[in-house]
Amino acid sequence: MKVLKFGGTSVGSAQRMREVADLVTGSDRKIVVLSAMSGTTNSLVEIANYLYKKNYDGANEVINRLERGYLDTVAQLFKKEEFKHKGLELVKSHFDYVKSFTKDVFTVFEEKSVLAQGELLTTALFNFFLQENGHNSVLLPALDFMRTNKNNEPDTVYIRENLERIMSEFEDTHLFITQGYICRNAFGEVDNLQRGGSDYTASLIGAALEVEEIQIWTDIDGMHNNDPRFVENTTSIAEISFDEAAELAYFGAKILHPTSVLPAKLANVPVKVLNTMDPKAVGTTISSSQHKDRITAVAAKDGITAIKIKSGRMLLAFGFLRKVFEIFESYKTPIDMITTSEVGVSVTIDNNRHLEEILDDLRKFSTVEVDYDQVIVCVVGDLVAENKGYANRIFEALKEIPIRMISYGGSEHNISLLVDAKDKKDALQALSAKLF
Ligand code: ADP
Ligand code: ASP
Ligand code: MG
Repeated sequence: MKVLKFGGTSVGSAQRMREVADLVTGSDRKIVVLSAMSGTTNSLVEIANYLYKKNYDGANEVINRLERGYLDTVAQLFKKEEFKHKGLELVKSHFDYVKSFTKDVFTVFEEKSVLAQGELLTTALFNFFLQENGHNSVLLPALDFMRTNKNNEPDTVYIRENLERIMSEFEDTHLFITQGYICRNAFGEVDNLQRGGSDYTASLIGAALEVEEIQIWTDIDGMHNNDPRFVENTTSIAEISFDEAAELAYFGAKILHPTSVLPAKLANVPVKVLNTMDPKAVGTTISSSQHKDRITAVAAKDGITAIKIKSGRMLLAFGFLRKVFEIFESYKTPIDMITTSEVGVSVTIDNNRHLEEILDDLRKFSTVEVDYDQVIVCVVGDLVAENKGYANRIFEALKEIPIRMISYGGSEHNISLLVDAKDKKDALQALSAKLF
């Protein structure tokens, strides 16, 4: 069995859905994970923001615009009256539900339900389309098996048991369709796996069922060696290790959700990244095999805040780092990068929700300086110490760029550098010019 995930652009129109149907209707058994049609989740976020502010005109305008888009898709997708009718009813029921929040209280619970509508609608429409064309597909409701625990981590035992239970009712079925991104939390409430989370869904399902392969179908021919949104002439990486792909995803390669590689790695299920617009292109295979002696790729993570913490007393005396880390832990704020010196320690975070409280606590025993709007540039490859000269090439490439922090040695696959957001593009371009 294989898991095939299609992102928003890949199912972004009636025509695209037809192309996806051609790709999934072969005879081998598969689970197809779909994101919402492109733009949908952004619109739902916009609607939720209006609803929070009780701006019902604003909300209705976006709701109506989005609904018209889905009605157009229904008109273009189906041929038979019966399915046109089913499609219209489906769209109407989902949008009636969203509209009901213009007359009701709106809290984070309702927001999660609104955000779930895109994947629910897109998968149901796609499944109708398969049925109209005579395919014997079954819709698996993600809300019946995808679940997180009290720490907001996937509840892997629950996911496996429930997925197997539901699928065992359809032993003769070869084609299952399910929603990416959406889940229930430990309290059974509708929730999601964060933006871009459909990749994570695919990886969690693939790992739970120990499938032969997970395929991530998107709008580009695989993982590229630099961010194609900022650098020209990037090229697709044919083979990459789980560890390298995980570093790239975590440090900003938008093509994969930050945590989506780990479940596949733990279950040792290879992941292929493939292009819906060019299905024959080789794409990228992510597996346990590690290419030796090369720099593989560069990525950048935005929205970073750097905090420089200097101790008043003899520095880095034992217990100092523990005190620092405990503060971040108590506010559930992960640290991305860390560097130390005799006089202090610098750390970076990507979540400023509790920044003020963290700074107040740190100031009780140290002086702090904060730099906002920073970017982590991450160079990934076979960077073991014995592979001499790579650090030199990286710094040579960045000789014109002010570098605020450097982290090397945390893993054998990563050198991270902190630069100001305004220097990001130049840094990425300079690295590509020098390294590839
Ligand atoms: P999907 O909707 O299929 O999940 P995404 O938009 O989330 O697609 O991810 C694909 C996009 O990721 C590409 O169009 C590309 O602009 C961007 N991207 C960023 N970094 C990389 C990279 N290293 N390799 C390939 N694509 C990348
Ligand atoms: N539809 C969701 C989003 O836009 C999930 C995904 O695309 O992976 O974030
Ligand atoms: Mg994505």
